[in-house]
This record gives sequence, C-alpha cells and structure tokens, in this order.
Amino acid sequence: MSNRLVLHPLSARDSLPDLGPLRARLLGVGLIGDMQDDGTHLAGPRIMELITFLGCMPYLPMEPRDDGGDYAFIRLSGPYRRARLLAGRNTVRPRCPHCNGVIGDWQPIKLAWESIAEWTCPKCGEASDASEIRWRENGGVGRVLIEIGGVHPSEAVPSDELRGLLKDVSGFDWGWFYVQD
Ligand SMILES: [Zn+2]
Repeated sequence: MSNRLVLHPLSARDSLPDLGPLRARLLGVGLIGDMQDDGTHLAGPRIMELITFLGCMPYLPMEPRDDGGDYAFIRLSGPYRRARLLAGRNTVRPRCPHCNGVIGDWQPIKLAWESIAEWTCPKCGEASDASEIRWRENGGVGRVLIEIGGVHPSEAVPSDELRGLLKDVSGFDWGWFYVQD
C-alpha cells in the first residue's frame, strides 16, 4: 500500500510552464535529494522540518525498502494540460461544486477522468467542470503535483515555510490532500 501527502495548486487551472525552477528550489531548500532511476527523488535533509507531523513522531523510512513498502520519496509531475485526478482507497464522499451533494459513486469519474470535461450532477442536474468537484482532503486534482511518500492521511501538513516557498516560486496558492492506494 502506498500513502502519500500531495501538494497541488489550489486552483485546478493554475500550472507552471515546466518543473525546472520548482525542482531547483525544492532541492535548494532541502525537501528533495538525489533523483532515482524512476524519476522520483529521495527525501532531502530538511524534509522533517518542511512537513509538520501532527501527532507523535512517525516511523518514516527514508530509503527504498526491500519489501517494497512505503518510504519518503518525492515525485514531481506535470505540467498536465488539464488537471490530473488522484483518488484512492481513502477517497470518500466527494461533493458537487454546485449543490454540495455527496457523490456516492465516484469511481466512474476516476475511470473516465481523461475523457470527462464536464460532469453532470445526478442530484441538482447542473453541469460542472469536472476538475471543480470537491474532493476535500481525500483526493484532489492538479496540473502540477508534488507527492510525498510514506505519509498517512491527515498525519502531516506542509509547513508555513514550504507553502511560502511554493507560492513564491509559482505565484499562486497551494493546498494539499492525501492519497492511499
Ligand atoms: Zn449538484
């Protein structure tokens, strides 16, 4: 099972022209370290300062494990032409952006994501841009995504320093959510 904290632009429309400047800043500040063969990064030396764990100190392995289990890798992805959806087994009760009605059966939205531009709510009948569906912190979308491995849902949040850096390098606000799959 994979657990990730995911940082994403708060607006589904916001993006970056390329990941280069973001990657350089995250390397410089110590969130990310060396790049691995699969394109993900090992955690940098300041990861435990740049994300804030809310409870007691977690067990967060910093290196890939022989058993394939969770560890603190960092994956930068994008820019996507259209926001990409990340949703997993922790995803529950996303809501319609018009009526706030609960979307009980969201799996078809995930399966067809690449071809869904508009989504029509079965409760209120309004059509919405699918990227405006409210996943709250149990999933989300972004044209640029930063996934941090080994973090369980609600276990940690980005620090003020990290959020400030993301806004500085991009010019827009960032939020976060959790994915478990
Ligand atoms: Zn609705």
